[in-house]
Amino acid sequence: MTAQREWFEKDYYAVLGVAKDASAKDITRAYRRLARQFHPDANPGDAAAEERFKEISAAYDVVGDEAKRTEYDEVRAAGPMGGFGPGGFAGGDGLGDLLGQMFGRGRRGTVGPRRGDDLESVLTLDFVEAARGITTTLHLTADSVCSSCSGSGARPGTTPKQCGACGGRGSVAENQGPFSFSSPCRGCGGAGRVVEYPCATCRGSGLERRPREVNVRIPAGVDDGQRIRLKGRGSPGRNGGPAGDLLVECRVAPHPVFARDGLNLLVRVAVPWTEAVLGGSVEVPVLEGDPVRLKLKPGTQAGSRHRVKNRGISTQRDQGDLIVTVDIDVPSRLTDEQRAAVEALHSVLAPTTGAGS
Ligand SMILES: [Zn+2]
Ligand SMILES: [Zn+2]
Repeated sequence: MTAQREWFEKDYYAVLGVAKDASAKDITRAYRRLARQFHPDANPGDAAAEERFKEISAAYDVVGDEAKRTEYDEVRAAGPMGGFGPGGFAGGDGLGDLLGQMFGRGRRGTVGPRRGDDLESVLTLDFVEAARGITTTLHLTADSVCSSCSGSGARPGTTPKQCGACGGRGSVAENQGPFSFSSPCRGCGGAGRVVEYPCATCRGSGLERRPREVNVRIPAGVDDGQRIRLKGRGSPGRNGGPAGDLLVECRVAPHPVFARDGLNLLVRVAVPWTEAVLGGSVEVPVLEGDPVRLKLKPGTQAGSRHRVKNRGISTQRDQGDLIVTVDIDVPSRLTDEQRAAVEALHSVLAPTTGAGS
């Protein structure tokens, strides 16, 4: 901080006798020449020369270093009265920050245009809504543009006046040693306007905390936990700054039949064991539309997965598949006739283990 304060007050280019746009080479050359001239060894007992030598070294330490020089130039450009337009601090360009740090004036963004806050909301969707996409209304309680004064902060029927302290510029000149600096106007907080008769609803802030309805379009295929960013749908900005964003976290309720893996839908179907052995076809539910029939090869295994192309979740860009996992349905009860048949089969398949009889 002290270094930057010093930078404001000292013209290192003048110390080295070079132009502000001098090349790095010229600066080094000038430094070497002056350093030789004023070196204490060459001027024994000469306090003035020693002082000059220190100045030259300090100057070269900054403008002889590319990164420091850039920083120095920026600090100098901000100084006396430079860098500020009639609108006061240009929010977010770093200049305001720099000066704020240097002179301890408040935190970033307390003056000038300020972007509105991002808002967060949680939206619970059922499984099908998430798959299809949905247009819905979110209910939030958040800062909104005041409904009484439309955000001006002035009582309806009145208008904010130009600030007398700064003439509407939002900044005032202030003396700091030999220079005068621009600083945000205390009279208007940098807005350039003052509200004489504050709006009763928002007490002059222009913002009102109230329930708000926001219509949102949730795209097809959102997944549980996914956040959708809706640009410019958050809190309104101040002093002409842009609105923040609205972040909607989607919670997707589970489905009794289907699960998801990205855009793929997962489903389990039970197949009679005889059909798994002999092969056949099984009806598989889909999320939307008529069921599809899945062909099974003879010898289909329990837990085997089968893909039905393009019957998953479809978005504008992509199309998922339906992944069918086969469960083997083993009957818990048999008729006498069935039992006899299975026993006969068993004796054929596994004659050595016996049928348990
Ligand atoms: Zn108001
Ligand atoms: Zn003012």
